[in-house]
Amino acid sequence: MKSHRQELWFNVPSRRGFINITPQVNEALATSGVGEGLALVNAMHITASVFINDDEPGLHRDYEAWLEKLAPHEPVGQYQHNLGEDNADAHLKRQIMGREVVVAVSGGRLDLGPWEQIFYGEFDGRRRKRVLVKIIGE
Ligand code: ZN
Repeated sequence: MKSHRQELWFNVPSRRGFINITPQVNEALATSGVGEGLALVNAMHITASVFINDDEPGLHRDYEAWLEKLAPHEPVGQYQHNLGEDNADAHLKRQIMGREVVVAVSGGRLDLGPWEQIFYGEFDGRRRKRVLVKIIGE
């Protein structure tokens, strides 16, 4: 069995943002040499997500508005976690949007649906953070 481990680093200049990381995962897959297997992609931080959905800017603005309704950043004093920090909303947003995705690898390609793209979701940015890519198979 082949196994490939790689970290992708991001530094989102704002508090929140979504980045399509499908090209980087495709590059990791090419490096791995795996033809048939699985690719795990997970955020290594508890205030960031990895998820799969459409690369459509309106949808990303909808996510932003929806997440702000569910877990508004302000006022930061509404959260018990925010003693000495201000990112409680980012932890909650991460929980909703998920930690990781697993994608089948078939014929040397990510076996995604027609509109599926892999995203990094940042909810407490302005610092360097990592995503783990682990690809296993033959
Ligand atoms: Zn925190």
